[in-house]
Amino acid sequence: MSQSPIVLTGDRPTGPLHLGHYVGSLRQRVTLQEQYRQFVMIADAQALTDNMGDLSKVRRNVIEVALDYLAVGLDPAKSTLFIQSQLTELAELSFYLLNLVTVARLERNPTVKEEIRLRGMERDIPAGFLTYPVSQTADITAFKAALVPVGADQAPMIEQCNELVRRFNNCVGKEILVEAQALIPDHGRLVGADGGAKMSKSLGNALALSADSAAIAAFVRSMYTDPNHLRVSDPGQVEGNVVFTYLDVFDPDKAAVEELKDHYRRGGLGDTVLKRRLTEHLEALITPIRERRAQFAQDPAEVMNILRQGTERAREAAAATMSEVKAALGLSYWN
Ligand code: ATP
Ligand code: MG
Repeated sequence: MSQSPIVLTGDRPTGPLHLGHYVGSLRQRVTLQEQYRQFVMIADAQALTDNMGDLSKVRRNVIEVALDYLAVGLDPAKSTLFIQSQLTELAELSFYLLNLVTVARLERNPTVKEEIRLRGMERDIPAGFLTYPVSQTADITAFKAALVPVGADQAPMIEQCNELVRRFNNCVGKEILVEAQALIPDHGRLVGADGGAKMSKSLGNALALSADSAAIAAFVRSMYTDPNHLRVSDPGQVEGNVVFTYLDVFDPDKAAVEELKDHYRRGGLGDTVLKRRLTEHLEALITPIRERRAQFAQDPAEVMNILRQGTERAREAAAATMSEVKAALGLSYWN
């Protein structure tokens, strides 16, 4: 029996979703929902792994993320939108999977390493944070998801997920869990305005999908360009110039962008012109999202209702996998 692959992704409710989410994952999800059974998770339990000191932030942002989902065009009739913490099955599955990974392997995960460094947690890593790739594996495998549309930072997670899937299946001698494939788009890692770290909610370098015109303009103004490009007539450097990085992603006219790059390299093209062009593109992208978001925000009870219904549907799917998992582990006693 060949079944259409299942899609799962999620986001941590640690702040409103930003442009990085849009190019890394959200845009793909809107397309995928037309063709596949798609689960989209608000990862509140995972957010707690580095936010136990700020519980209200996580609580408050659940609805913000849900509003962003609806605003970009995730349709609850096509995608199952749910809240992670409400499915105890996911915690249960993590608990078993944790026995199939070593601490040394967890410490080698490059994304987790980088996140620990950026959060200054080197000396005090919460065990839950170090093990979140395992919890993420549980989230994916509980739905038997084969496709995971994520940004480039998540590639090591999917690799670790598949190692665990193979170990689990090998251990129980049955193909119960399903290996997943990351769907990483070309521009799978959008940098922040300074061009250094990836744009991230937790690093304060993000442009929210709900940003107003002033915030969009300020964000573009603050972008790192070429510090040696002092006069308009000076030749400028394109590589590492964040405005060009963004034009490559957000300007649909690729030929025009290439011409602008040549002109910039030759000299005679000012940052202001480029920044104005980029601002216009970002405005055109964000304005309809912001407007739809404002509409949905008028009825928060309805948004929570959508999440409740999605959570119930998701629970059924995860519970079915959990019964198979427990039976395979020899942990089903009365049936
Ligand atoms: P946090 O700082 O709390 O970790 P975040 O901004 O990294 O937040 P997540 O909720 O961890 O966002 O990530 C959700 C999804 O968005 C993942 O698939 C991730 O790969 C993708 N994503 C996040 N930031 C970017 C980015 N800058 N570029 C591309 N994709 C991104
Ligand atoms: Mg993240």
